[in-house]
Amino acid sequence: MKIDADIIIVGGGLNGPALALAFASGGLSSVIIDTVPLATRRKPAFDGRAYALSLTSVRMLKVLGIWDAVQSEAQAMLDIKVTDGRPGEGAAGQFVHFDHNEISEGPMGHMLEDRYLRRALLDAVKASDLITQIAPATVEAQDITASHAEVTLDDGRVLRGRLLVGCDGRRSGVAMRAGIARTGHDYHQSGLVCAVSHEKPHNGVAYQQFMPSGPLAILPLTGNRSAIVWTETTERAGLINAMSDKDYMEELRPRFGDFLGKIKLVGKRYSYPLNLTVANRFAQHRLALVGDAAHGIHYLAGQGLNLGLRDVAALAEVVLDAARRGEDIGNELVLARYAQWRGFDTAALTASTDLINKLFSNDNPILRTSRIAGLGLVNAIPALRRDFIREAAGLSGDLPRLLKGQAI
Ligand SMILES: Cc1cc2nc3c(=O)[nH]c(=O)nc-3n(C[C@H](O)[C@H](O)[C@H](O)COP(=O)(O)OP(=O)(O)OC[C@H]3O[C@@H](n4cnc5c(N)ncnc54)[C@H](O)[C@@H]3O)c2cc1C
Repeated sequence: MKIDADIIIVGGGLNGPALALAFASGGLSSVIIDTVPLATRRKPAFDGRAYALSLTSVRMLKVLGIWDAVQSEAQAMLDIKVTDGRPGEGAAGQFVHFDHNEISEGPMGHMLEDRYLRRALLDAVKASDLITQIAPATVEAQDITASHAEVTLDDGRVLRGRLLVGCDGRRSGVAMRAGIARTGHDYHQSGLVCAVSHEKPHNGVAYQQFMPSGPLAILPLTGNRSAIVWTETTERAGLINAMSDKDYMEELRPRFGDFLGKIKLVGKRYSYPLNLTVANRFAQHRLALVGDAAHGIHYLAGQGLNLGLRDVAALAEVVLDAARRGEDIGNELVLARYAQWRGFDTAALTASTDLINKLFSNDNPILRTSRIAGLGLVNAIPALRRDFIREAAGLSGDLPRLLKGQAI
C-alpha cells in the first residue's frame, strides 16, 4: 500500500501548519489539505484578530523557527490588570494586578496579530521538504483501516497516511465523519473585535474589565495601539455592530475609560458569535483532533490558540516518541496517551472559563460586591497572585518538551 505521507492533516489554519512543522522537526512527513487557497490564507490585511500568546507558546514558536519572523511585530505583555466595572462608571476601586516581575521566566506572553503569525507559519511550511500543501481542496470522505487512514478530496484524489489529524476547526468534518459527537452550548453572547490607537502608551499592560453584559479586554499591540475584544449579549452586539464607526466609538468610549487618553478606531471591526464546542473524544484508532476541532472555547480566556498549540506539542511528542520506539504511530494506544494528556487540561480550562463568565457577566448587586471583594483578596495574597500569573503564562501542568523550549 503506497503511503503519501506519514500524517494527513485536514486544515491549514494555525494549528495544522504548526503541527506539520513539529512533526517535520522530528523527521515525519505530512500533507496539509485546506479548502481555502494558500494566497488567501496568507492575506496580509488586519482582520481584527490578535493573540495573547502565552510564554510557553512563544517558547514553542522559537523552537520551530517561527519566532524570528514575527518578533518585531509582537508586543510583550508585562502586566495584566483585572477589574470589575460598569459603562460610564469606570472600573471599581478594587482590582488585581498581575506583574510579570513576580515570576522569573519573563513576560507572561506576547500579543501578536493573526496576519503575522499565519504568514510566518505558512512560509515555514512552504520551505520544508517534509510538508506538502494541497489547496484549494476539500476533504469529502475519509476511511480508517487497520493499516492506514485515507481521505478523498473533492477532485477525486485519494491520499493515504498512517495517521489522520483533524485541524479543521470548530465544525470539524474529520470528527463528524468519524462519528465523534460534540458537547457544548451557546453563550448567547458575541465578541465585538477591533483595534484602537490611543494618545498615551499602554506600557505593555493588558486590561480585563468585567462588565455586566460580558468582559471587555484591552490588549496591548505594538505602538500606541490596543486590540479590543468586547463581549455583549448577541442582541446588543448586533445593534452595536450595525452602528456607524462614530456611534460605535461612542458606545465603546465609556466602557474603555480615558486612562489612555483619546482613542481612535483603526481598521475594520468584526463580530463573532461565542459558543462552547468540545469533541467527546480527542483520538481514536489512526485519528486525532487538534485545536478548535477538539475544543472551541469562549474568547474571554484568550486561550483558544494557546490550548491548540498545547495539543500540537503533546501530539507531536507522543507520535515522534512512538516512531522512535518503532511503534505504529496510528495505533490507538499511542493516541490514547495524547487524548489523556490533553483531556484534563481542556476540561479544567473550559469549566473555569464557563464559571468566570457566569459569575462576572451580570449586574447582580450581591455577586458584584463579592466579586470586588474577591479581586481585592487575590490581589492581597502574593502566592495566589503568582499562581494566576503562572497559569496565564502557560507554565502550570505537565508541559510537553516544545513548551519547555526543548526540541522534540
Ligand atoms: C476574534 C477572535 C479572537 C481570538 N483571540 C484569541 C486570543 O487572544 N488568544 C488565543 O489563544 N486564541 C484566540 N482566538 C481563538 C483562535 O483564533 C482559534 O483557537 C484558532 O484560530 C483555531 O485554529 P485552528 O487551526 O484550530 O482552526 P481554524 O483556524 O478554524 O482552521 C481550520 C481550517 O480548516 C479548513 N477546513 C475545514 N474543513 C475542511 C475540509 N473539509 N477540507 C479542507 N480544509 C478544511 C478551513 O478552511 C480552515 O483553514 C480568537 C478567535 C477569534 C475569532
